[in-house]
Amino acid sequence: MATVFFIPATLQTPRQTLTRIVAYLFQATGLPARLDPGDLTAVKIHFGEEGNRGHIPPDLAAVVSRELLAAGAKPFFTDTNTLYVGRRANAVDHLLLAHEHGFTPEALGAPVLIADGLLGNDEVRVKIKGKHFQEVRIARDLALARALVGINHFTGHLVTGFGAALKNLGMGGASRAGKLHQHAAVRPRVNLKKCTGCAECVRWCSTGAIRVKDALASIDGRACIGCGQCLSVCPHHAVQFNWDESPALVQQKMVEHALGVLMGKEKKSAHLTFLTHITAECDCLATDDPLLLPDIGVLASTDPVAIDAAALDLVEQALGGTLAQATGRPLPNAQLVHAQAVGLGSSEYELVTLEV
Ligand code: SF4
Ligand code: SF4
Repeated sequence: MATVFFIPATLQTPRQTLTRIVAYLFQATGLPARLDPGDLTAVKIHFGEEGNRGHIPPDLAAVVSRELLAAGAKPFFTDTNTLYVGRRANAVDHLLLAHEHGFTPEALGAPVLIADGLLGNDEVRVKIKGKHFQEVRIARDLALARALVGINHFTGHLVTGFGAALKNLGMGGASRAGKLHQHAAVRPRVNLKKCTGCAECVRWCSTGAIRVKDALASIDGRACIGCGQCLSVCPHHAVQFNWDESPALVQQKMVEHALGVLMGKEKKSAHLTFLTHITAECDCLATDDPLLLPDIGVLASTDPVAIDAAALDLVEQALGGTLAQATGRPLPNAQLVHAQAVGLGSSEYELVTLEV
């Protein structure tokens, strides 16, 4: 059974206390003692889409780099480019946006890199033993790093039910091709009774797969790459997909990419998850979603499956029901079940509440 450490907190907790909480939780994972001097350590984080303020505050992320530097490691903060259009689709725009959101080398005490290069095709093919893949395509800088810290923000997600440690690694650590392989199960369709022909989906589709004719949208399945962006941006909920089958497949494929990201650094990785600013949609949306529930706290573990299981349990306890009921999004269980099956960790955990 894995151990997950927890400290209740909100983003309104005094900053000095929050800073101590992050440092204390990070130390509790024991990772600093397992690092070797000079270990190039990827700190995988989401810098937030333009217009979205749900991302982890940079001053709290900086606590992790201070702890890593004190342990003799060489940290760098990193994320990968997106499949869909927006300010994170190439490394130049992505880096500029990260800086605008406060993720600068000066604030973090460490450089900021986009792990899959200028256009998202800088990758390493990593061999794994999965159900869907024997080889996954991982962003090069993440694959080459000697150690890894995932800083995760728990949110709901339109395809995976929720996103936290496994999604930050699996979807967020894959190259563009790796992301495409995960999304291949998603094939949206337009509910013509709900479509108004507003063309918002056309604006966001990076492949030109959507056309609006006679005030009705249609999707060309041959051009669609399954990025799911049209689902999230349609203001009339007219874009739909098969909720029974597709999300579970995407979750399983995502988890197998997380396995690839962690390959070789299983003993040199740790995960911190912020249960703060929790929204139904992820930080990839270019809007600030309403909060789903009040802040809960921060979790830490060396086990990415256990920390996600604990995060989901804490959120559902606070909601008094399932996350799927509260968000109208798919059941997220497939990612936990499959992650355990492929050996990423254990969904059985002991929650240890710490005090600072
Ligand atoms: S965004 Fe929705 S309502 Fe607007 S054209 Fe696309 S499918 Fe139709
Ligand atoms: S039609 Fe396909 S490629 Fe275009 S936004 Fe929707 S899911 Fe993505």
